[in-house]
Amino acid sequence: MDNCIFCKIIAGVIPSATIYENEEFKVILDRFPANEGHVLIMPKEHCDNLFGIEEEKAGRLFALAVKVAKVMKETLGFENMNLVQNNGPVAGQTVNHLHVHLIPRYEGDEVKVTWPQMDLTDEQIDAVKIKLAENL
Ligand code: AMP
Ligand code: ZN
Repeated sequence: MDNCIFCKIIAGVIPSATIYENEEFKVILDRFPANEGHVLIMPKEHCDNLFGIEEEKAGRLFALAVKVAKVMKETLGFENMNLVQNNGPVAGQTVNHLHVHLIPRYEGDEVKVTWPQMDLTDEQIDAVKIKLAENL
């Protein structure tokens, strides 16, 4: 993808702080981190977002995220972490190349990964449940 900043990082055209890579995935430090030790994991083959990745490959991506998270926890010495993955501009995706964020959390930090909770009725919950469950 010509205009994709992460494809350029993967191709080595743009430098990155790479901490791990294998045939399928690259793991780098976020250049503009939410917290110290903010890591990004991305597939080397371009895909825009979650809706474009094959499920088995997504499984391997998640397994790698767990492995990296454990090493981060031991090495950086934190106890709390957010795993964040944005899809589409409304959801906060700014780089259109699928990636997972691993964000260490420290007491009193300024990171926000929360949302206001809706107060739906049981009927409203049920209507959504039925629609999704019948297609899964
Ligand atoms: P998202 O908003 O989920 O698409 O996340 C994109 C992330 O890419 C942000 O956290 C940015 O800080 C990060 N980012 C943007 N440019 C670079 C870069 N050149 N190297 C590393 N991370 C970057
Ligand atoms: Zn790309």
